[in-house]
Amino acid sequence: MTEEANPVTCHEFQAQLPEMIGSGESLAAHAHLLHCALCRTLLADLETIAEAARLIFPIVEPPDNLWKQIESAIKKEKAAIEPDEGKE
Ligand SMILES: [Zn+2]
Repeated sequence: MTEEANPVTCHEFQAQLPEMIGSGESLAAHAHLLHCALCRTLLADLETIAEAARLIFPIVEPPDNLWKQIESAIKKEKAAIEPDEGKE
């Protein structure tokens, strides 16, 4: 292994992984991944696990646009029930 070519070692990179994932940093562009197939594989595995976790654990807090959709659906329903709008 030509570890001196890498800015960080595998151990250091993997130690930073959770932080980098949490910060939303683009990991695909990380210098270490360009050199290290091992960590690329590890990251791919982690992404697979994260994807599976999203399927297993439903989103507890819906995103903002979902609330907006619900809100506009409620407003539409209200408008249908109470036809008190000023237009014809
Ligand atoms: Zn590595």
